[in-house]
Amino acid sequence: MIDEEKVRQAITLMLEGIGEDPSREGLIGTPDRIVRMYGEIFAGMDEDPADHLTRTFEAVGTDMIVEKDIPFYSMCEHHFMPFFGKAHIGYIPRDRVVGLSKLARCVETFARRPQIQEKMTSQIADAIYEHLDCEGVIVELCAEHMCMSMRGVKKGGTQTVTVARRGSFETDPKLEERFFRML
Ligand SMILES: [Zn+2]
Repeated sequence: MIDEEKVRQAITLMLEGIGEDPSREGLIGTPDRIVRMYGEIFAGMDEDPADHLTRTFEAVGTDMIVEKDIPFYSMCEHHFMPFFGKAHIGYIPRDRVVGLSKLARCVETFARRPQIQEKMTSQIADAIYEHLDCEGVIVELCAEHMCMSMRGVKKGGTQTVTVARRGSFETDPKLEERFFRML
């Protein structure tokens, strides 16, 4: 749970620190707005992805399942600037499958935390591999980082791509080829 008073004080201090006047009309409600926004965009810190992945259905002899173009919005933990893009997930079930919307909920749980894209990719793969008891899983994230687009090299539109493989996707390159053909 967010310590609202602490965040409110911190935002006021930060505004003063950059030379702003936190009491001027446009900024007076900003600490409160950010407190409410952080409650929403960091809600994943209080969530357990297992809650979404343990309700499964029987599915015998099911081939690879791909859920692609799952949109996500997260916050870079190095710069506290947004990064956002699409997640693509493929998994090979053993004998249980999960509701398709639950994969998107799993992505959202990890996106709604201060994050780096590499870690988020691994966390999603680990959560699915662990809780779904599947033969293999692959997760690809493509995202634009505002800390890259707005500052430093200022390469707007650049996409960062990260991939994590678990189980049969680590040992059989043909599975990965099929996954990328299905995207
Ligand atoms: Zn960053």
